[in-house]
Amino acid sequence: MQDKGINSTFKKIIYESSEMVFLADDTYPYSIFYANESFEEQLGENLQERNLVGLGLDINAYIFKEELVLTHNQKDYSFRLELPQDSGSNYFLFYKGKEVKTHGLPSKKEAYQFFTSKLDLIAIGKHDHLTYLNSMVLPVLGFEPSELLHTSLCPFVHEEDLDALQNLWKTHLKSQDPAFHTFRFKGKDEKYRYLECSIQFTQESFFVIGRDVSGKIKAQEDEQEFFSLLDQLPALANSLSWKFSKTSQEFDSIQAEELFYQKFLVSESQRAQVKNQLVGYLNSLDSNSVTKGIYRGDFQLISGKRIEVIVFFPKSNPSALWGVFWDNSAKELLEREVLIQKGIWNESPEALMVVDEQGAISSMNKEAYHLFGIESDSRINHLSDLNIFFEEENLWSDWISSSKGTTHTSRFSTSLIGEEKPSLTLEVAAKRMKIDGVEYVLLSFRNITDQISLEKTIEESSDFLMNLTEQVPGGLYQLVLNSEGQMNFSFLSKGINGVLGISQEEIHQFTDISASIAKVHPQDLPTVIMSSVASAKKMEPWQCQFRVKSGEKDAPYRWVLGAARPQSLENGDMVWYGYLTDITKQKEFESKLDEARLAAEKANQIKSEFLSMISHELRTPLNAISGSVYSLFHENPTDSQKSALNTINFAVDNLIIMINDLLDFQKIEAGKLTIENNPFQLKGLLDQIIKGLSFHAADSKNKLNLHLSEGLDIAVKGDKTRLSQVLNNLITNALKFTHEGNVDVKVELQGQIRNKVRVYFEVKDTGIGIAPENQEKIFNDFDQVRPTFSTKYGGTGLGLSITRKLLNLMGGKIALESAVGTGSRFYFDLEFERAEEELVPTQDNKRKPLAFDKLHLLMAEDNEVNALVLGKIIKKWGYTYERVENGLEAVEAMKTGTYDCVLMDIQMPEMDGFEATLAIKQFSDTPIIALTAAAKLEIMEKIDECGFEGFVAKPIDAAELLKKIKEVISEKNYKA
Ligand code: ADP
Repeated sequence: MQDKGINSTFKKIIYESSEMVFLADDTYPYSIFYANESFEEQLGENLQERNLVGLGLDINAYIFKEELVLTHNQKDYSFRLELPQDSGSNYFLFYKGKEVKTHGLPSKKEAYQFFTSKLDLIAIGKHDHLTYLNSMVLPVLGFEPSELLHTSLCPFVHEEDLDALQNLWKTHLKSQDPAFHTFRFKGKDEKYRYLECSIQFTQESFFVIGRDVSGKIKAQEDEQEFFSLLDQLPALANSLSWKFSKTSQEFDSIQAEELFYQKFLVSESQRAQVKNQLVGYLNSLDSNSVTKGIYRGDFQLISGKRIEVIVFFPKSNPSALWGVFWDNSAKELLEREVLIQKGIWNESPEALMVVDEQGAISSMNKEAYHLFGIESDSRINHLSDLNIFFEEENLWSDWISSSKGTTHTSRFSTSLIGEEKPSLTLEVAAKRMKIDGVEYVLLSFRNITDQISLEKTIEESSDFLMNLTEQVPGGLYQLVLNSEGQMNFSFLSKGINGVLGISQEEIHQFTDISASIAKVHPQDLPTVIMSSVASAKKMEPWQCQFRVKSGEKDAPYRWVLGAARPQSLENGDMVWYGYLTDITKQKEFESKLDEARLAAEKANQIKSEFLSMISHELRTPLNAISGSVYSLFHENPTDSQKSALNTINFAVDNLIIMINDLLDFQKIEAGKLTIENNPFQLKGLLDQIIKGLSFHAADSKNKLNLHLSEGLDIAVKGDKTRLSQVLNNLITNALKFTHEGNVDVKVELQGQIRNKVRVYFEVKDTGIGIAPENQEKIFNDFDQVRPTFSTKYGGTGLGLSITRKLLNLMGGKIALESAVGTGSRFYFDLEFERAEEELVPTQDNKRKPLAFDKLHLLMAEDNEVNALVLGKIIKKWGYTYERVENGLEAVEAMKTGTYDCVLMDIQMPEMDGFEATLAIKQFSDTPIIALTAAAKLEIMEKIDECGFEGFVAKPIDAAELLKKIKEVISEKNYKA
């Protein structure tokens, strides 16, 4: 170390210090002329220039400082600086040198940079003034730093913020915690800025970092004010807040725009137009024309909807508009909804009340007031106020408590008493409900007086019907057949007890059908079941008579009539409503009646057989008489003999007619007479009838005339025999009761529709006529005008009765016009079907003429007289014959001989005519004519069945028999 006059104090410091020490000249570049070892180790070795300038230091800046910080190789070193005390020294002492270990702190240069940067306001102060201020003050407050240094700050702080700031200083000075505070500070332009500062207080000084937050604060104020706009809207308004930028001409978000369309119901198609309208409207607003930055107005959308608008002009952003669009529709809707609900409540036809759990009435509707007859302005506060209306007191507590803890409706029935009103029956329904967490009970009151009285009426009429059913003889029931096939009685009246013989107790268990079926007589069971099944299938009423075992095991069966009407129900079940009634007595009566009927039928049969027998017995002698007279006529009788023979003939004819009439009458009575429907020639038949009677007419000295209209030469279908019988009857009567007069038979074709013809028949005479009082009588059975008539004119009084009956069977009706002494006119008309097919040709036209002069006949007749008479007749015709006496012989004779025709009696010994004919027909086609006195229908039918070709009744009319013989032979030849 050079001794440059270093004083002893310095020397002491240099030698005693373990830390870095060096000495430097006091002249530029302040060369380091001494450095200790520590300095050399840490710094000296790396120094390129060993002077203070080399260390980057201008010593002048440190003249008044005690400490010096050196930066070298990015490390800071602090040194104490000592200036020589005496004026003669020309060097500085740097000692207590050590590396400053401050982690992360900037280097001196960086620190300087930081402090002088324009990031934030940085200031250091003491008491009320600043000792340092960086250059940020100029852009923030408009001051040069120097203008604010060392001058009191109080006048610059906003007077409203001053107290707070002083308090801050006081409190934080003690705790030395950093403080954060925002206050207003006046700039050079006299306007306040908000400075947001963090301040560190120390005993002597304070450090401030601050920044201008006026913009942020303003924006916050704007936001606050913007939000306060919403408070100005009516409650429940349909609103939408938005921000609009005049620069971009857009709302702050797409959602805001979309929401606008949705809230104010702008259709898709109108959106572009509405957007233009909104933008145009907002652009037209000018902040200068509004007070306090708020504008209120409204505009109409193109849909016609009116939108209210509040626009706020934010101070923090002059190019922006903030605002709210709104309308009152939602509120109006809600208000309407409330009104409707109120209306429903008030006008409900049901009387309603809402009460709390203690019975205090919260609300009561009009009908409730009306029901209790209370004026709507009189205050009813509690259900107990209604006690006077009810027969029992404090019923209400039951209504309320019953509904507790359930969601069900509890119902009560109670009676109202009123001074003026008649007593009413009410149904009270109680139901719990919770509104805003509070439990209430909703009560409804319904007047059920009418319903109760209706129920009573129904009960009464049901009782009435029950009484009625019990009084009905027999029993009523309802039987149900369900879809599973089970049949049960759903109702049985008491009367069933009597019919089925079951006790009143039993009837209750008597629901199953099987119990009643078990009572039915086994023989009747199939009928009962089959008829029931048929009724169910066809849905037809059921009726059945059957026997049931009523009462004890060995009790007799009783007859029961069951009837029911089925009905199918909607559910698919089938129901029978029916009755059972005891018809045992009726059955007994019926069986007696049956016996009587059988006896009557038997009697009738006996009568019929008697008539048949009598006629047979009568015919046989008549046959003999008639045959004998016929032969006598051919044996040249004298005139007187002739006259006697004529008388006999007349009597015999009458008897024959009478017997025939009797047989016909009996047949018609028995309903056994059938009308045939075979083709015949109408005109031919009429000619034949007239021809047949012409002899009779001549006999009675009358003129018999036939008048036929045009178009009667036709074939029709009908019963030729019965028509002949009718006309014969009428003409015979006319001839009988006319003397030397005229009998005119008139037949006219009245009309033709399709294949049907209507023909009018009339028989008119100029005879004795019939008195009016007898005109109806003569058609009765066995009736003649006078009984004595029969002696004079003959007859049985059956002819007209039979005529009328026959015509009825043929579909005609006989009528009569007559005057005593002038004559009578019998007339009728008949309808015939025209015969299409060609008629069997008659002998005289188509058929080749047959020779009937020589015929050989076989006669089978057991009765000697009959055989004699018939033999004489045959001989008279010039024919030959052979006689056999029974059927057996007839068959034998047929096998050996050849005959043109067989005349076969029916009743014969050994073998009767039927059997014989059947046998002959096996091997021969010779025609066989039956001869019988029995005109009974069964015999006729049998004659047909056995294959007879013809039939002639006994007593034999010789002419008729000859005609028949010729007919059957012609027929056979024709067929051949
Ligand atoms: P009868 O077989 O006795 O002739 P009818 O029944 O044919 O019986 O006739 C009944 C009665 O009607 C006859 O007895 C007669 O008194 C009267 N009568 C029938 N036809 C005529 C007629 N053409 N002129 C007058 N009287 C008649």
